[in-house]
This record gives sequence, structure tokens and C-alpha cells, in this order.
Amino acid sequence: MITAVLGGGQLARMLALAGAPLGLRTRCLDPSPDAVAGHVAELLVGAYDDPALLQRLADGAAVCTFEFENVPVATTEWLMGHSTVLPHPRALGVGQDRLHEKTLFRELGIGTAPFAIAATRDELRQAVATVGTPCIVKTRRLGYDGKGQVRLAAGADQAAIDAAFATLTAGGYAHALIAEGFVRFDRELSVLAARGRDGRVVTWPLVQNEHEHGILARSRAPAPQLEPRLQREADLFAAALLEHLDYVGVLAVELFEVGGKLLANEMAPRVHNSGHWTIEGSVCSQFEQHLRCVHGLPLGDTGMAGSGYATMVNLIGEMPDRARLLALPGVHLHDYGKSPRAGRKLGHATVVAASRDEADALAARVRG
Ligand code: AMP
Repeated sequence: MITAVLGGGQLARMLALAGAPLGLRTRCLDPSPDAVAGHVAELLVGAYDDPALLQRLADGAAVCTFEFENVPVATTEWLMGHSTVLPHPRALGVGQDRLHEKTLFRELGIGTAPFAIAATRDELRQAVATVGTPCIVKTRRLGYDGKGQVRLAAGADQAAIDAAFATLTAGGYAHALIAEGFVRFDRELSVLAARGRDGRVVTWPLVQNEHEHGILARSRAPAPQLEPRLQREADLFAAALLEHLDYVGVLAVELFEVGGKLLANEMAPRVHNSGHWTIEGSVCSQFEQHLRCVHGLPLGDTGMAGSGYATMVNLIGEMPDRARLLALPGVHLHDYGKSPRAGRKLGHATVVAASRDEADALAARVRG
């Protein structure tokens, strides 16, 4: 059986690796001939809007899915006419635009930072006045890893607001921005959830995420001092989204914890970096679970695997020495096979251990 995947990066690669033992083969489409899923799966190279390539991608595939949320809507529409596409592309429409995302969160009773949209410089001045300072101005679309956003300090004046507008609308960005009130969060968490074709919803333990320069650096699972009440709140958020979107597959929601309550920042309608720890840390990984969902197979167990604690460290910009890393007990290395570049996610390492302190102590040695 073949899974077709739009995108051929590390997420598609890890989906392919998870599919192999289940007897599932993977075929990816990516514009880059260097796409790293190509090392372990069939790779078609070309544009997402090339009907001949989409035909080849879908040909004989049991289901089409995607590894990133900025797939052109026209591509998924074409594929839906020729194959089964899961999750339903309506989730892409939400995940591609911060306004749609936050509006849906609010509709479902999920708290967010205050926000206001702006398409012109004057509207941005107005939006900043509405949400107050400090705040963060973001592009509504195509922002990731802290790109496409500018922070405005408390008391930022009109010149600072105009400069943010100029920065964010330069270089071809669409003139569609969103200003968000700055959340003084206690910590960042994420909830990873999955919904099967039969509507069954499962979630993994909440994860605590730490960022460096806007990029995820470390995820700790389960999140330290995780109160059951917080997990229940996150589970309710995830279930509300999955059910509203009639979603099939894995979805992640990034959260801020503030004074014991959760606010949602954004959702990713796909497997997610903050879920990479599940490969060794959970009974069923997010990648296997996504495949189980989209192929209509029974869902797997989202409990912690035997050792009980996991810490995932992203390997960014340069790879640590392989031999040194593999000498650490309980460490699992995932080298994505990418050429090094500053700020690029080249791999990750997950440490599993029998205590939180031990997992964190070993994780601290991963990057040397
Ligand atoms: P994002 O691209 O929305 O995931 O933002 C990247 C990172 O910026 C988040 O993980 C937070 O650390 C921080 N951030 C984003 N939005 C806010 C906000 N409204 N208040 C405070 N920090 C934020």
C-alpha cells in the first residue's frame, strides 16, 4: 500500500520510516531534488501545481497527505478529484492564516492573545492601539520559526510601528498583518492529538517547549509539573478542533501557559517538531499514528514508553560529533541527511530516561 505525501522534507522522511514496518510505502512530491525524504522513499521532483506530477503522485496511492501547511489549495483540490486526501484540506485553509486560526480558536471557546488585523500602515497603527504594547506584529500567512514577525516594545511610537509595517511588507510579503498582544507566559506547551477515520480522538501527554532565536530548541515530555487539570484543558481544545474540522490525522496546537490557564498560539495540521520525542518516548509515535489515522487502521497507544521520560533536542546549523553523541546512554540520533546551513534543522536527538532529571541532564550533553 502506498502513502502519497505532499512535501519531501524531514517530516515526510520520518513518515516514510514509520510506514516501512507497517508495510506502507511512501511516495513524496517536492520541488527540490535534494529533498531528504528521497533517501528513504520514492521522490517525485517538481512543482505542486503540475497536474502530470500530481497524477503520478496519486497513481495507485491509498491516500494522499501532506507534511507542511502551505500546500497550495488548488493542489489539494486537484488531488481530491483523483484520490482520498486526509486530513481534509479545510484544515489547511485554517492553518495557513493566523486570522482564521485565531477566529476558530475563539469560536470554539479556546483562549488566545488579544489580536487585530491590519492591511495598511494606518490600520496597523490602529491595530496596535487596540491590542496595546508590548505586542508582536506578524504576517498572517507564511510565517514560521519566528520569521515574519516584529516585536514592538512597551510604549512603541508611530515611527516604530511604521518601521514594523515596512519590514513585514517588504520583499513580497502580502500586506496582511496581525498584531497580537504580548503574552507574559509562564511557559510554552504543545498538545499533540490524533483523530481516526472512525472519529476516535487520542492525545499525548503535554510537552514543554523551549525556543532559541524563535526556533524550537528542546521539548520535554511529559511537561514538568504537569497537573491533570491542564492536560484535560488541552485535550478539550484539541478534541474541539479535531471534531469541528472533521479532521483525520495528527494535529498539534502550540499553547502558552499563563497563571495556570492555557491560551492557544497556533495549530499545525500535520505531524510536528514538538512531537518528535514520540518516536522513542511514546508507545506509538506521531508518525505511525498519522499513518494509522489516514489509512483507517486502529489507533495506537499514546502513553509514555517504558522509561517514562523523554527530552528532544533539535540539532540546528551543525551536527554534533556522531560518535560522541551515540556514546551517551539512552540517546537516539536522527540525522536528516541535510547539508548544514545556519539556522537549519539538521536533525534531532531524543533522550529517554527513568527520571525527568536524568533525561534533562543527558539532553544537556547532546550539543556538547
Ligand atoms: P509563532 O511563529 O507564532 O509560533 O511564534 C514564535 C514564538 O514567538 C513563540 O513560540 C513564542 O515564543 C513567541 N510568541 C509568539 N506570539 C507571542 C505572543 N503573542 N506573546 C508572546 N510571545 C509570543
